[in-house]
Amino acid sequence: MVEKVIITKSEKETFDLGVELAKSLRKGSVICLRGDLGAGKTVFSKGLCEGLGVAECISSPTFTIVNEYEGEKLPVFHFDMYRIEDEDELIEIGYDEYLMRGGVCIIEWPQNIQNSLPKTRTDIDILRDLSIGDDVRKITVRERA
Ligand code: ADP
Ligand code: MG
Repeated sequence: MVEKVIITKSEKETFDLGVELAKSLRKGSVICLRGDLGAGKTVFSKGLCEGLGVAECISSPTFTIVNEYEGEKLPVFHFDMYRIEDEDELIEIGYDEYLMRGGVCIIEWPQNIQNSLPKTRTDIDILRDLSIGDDVRKITVRERA
């Protein structure tokens, strides 16, 4: 497992980190984003989408579990698992099919589907440490294989 810790000091730095990380994504890549409300998951996702060449303006998939976007080279599937209470619900949304569709999957609240995450994935934790400053985030990137 490769682990990297990056400190960002503004929304833009977190966005840019997403743009940068997007360059390493391939078909089938899965990115799991953990962090409390307001941590910066959406900011980071927007950076990923920018880096993947998604033209539409993306937002958190708050009212649907999954949003689909067309990137320059790959489709992008953005999941919000916040309201998933039982992993059986994943069958209804066709989660397994999404994983096999040759796109990039971005999964927010992966904690809720712990047993359904692929072994090969990138886990990203965004932590807000108010003792350091309002705009500081500690971002841990773990490549799992
Ligand atoms: P989440 O999707 O995790 O709930 P958002 O990405 O919607 O969080 O919001 C993050 C908020 O924190 C934004 O208002 C953003 O401007 C602010 N912010 C301040 N500093 C940072 C930083 N270093 N990285 C990301 N967002 C930051
Ligand atoms: Mg969000």
